[in-house]
Amino acid sequence: MSHRILISACLLGRPVRYDGKGKPLHHPAIERWKAEGRLVAFCPEQAGGLPTPRPPAEIEQAMDADDVLAGRARVIENTGADVTAAFVEGGRKAVEFARANGCTFALLIDGSPSCGSGFIYDGSFSGKRHPGEGVTTALLRQAGIEVFSDREVEDLESRLVGLHP
Ligand code: SF4
Repeated sequence: MSHRILISACLLGRPVRYDGKGKPLHHPAIERWKAEGRLVAFCPEQAGGLPTPRPPAEIEQAMDADDVLAGRARVIENTGADVTAAFVEGGRKAVEFARANGCTFALLIDGSPSCGSGFIYDGSFSGKRHPGEGVTTALLRQAGIEVFSDREVEDLESRLVGLHP
């Protein structure tokens, strides 16, 4: 199967989120891709060595993944702990895992400091969001993998139409 899709494990309902829960996305395309064996589940934060459950984390000072990867910003938990290294490690492992499994696309949950692709939270832990991407998304895009958010399932469906299966 070519054009496999790396998917945030929580979108398949796996209990990997910071709060110990999943966030299953119900969509006919997801069921079809699952049946086709096209989906490859991955959780970068767990892969980076973080436990579940874990404190919520955000990229500080309304910056985004580019700033983290350039060393200008950290990823911090609401406890103040610096988890930047785990987030970068998880993102690197996501790229390795995507390549090893033939994933040319990724479908990731938006808003996460790892998996966000359209928006993330601003580091104040007050629910304020701003445009930006998470660390894993940035590293996947650098590696040439096209990232779609959970709000863009139809866009990914359209993108797959006409491609060799
Ligand atoms: Fe889901 Fe990504 Fe957070 Fe893991 S890192 S829980 S896959 S949003």
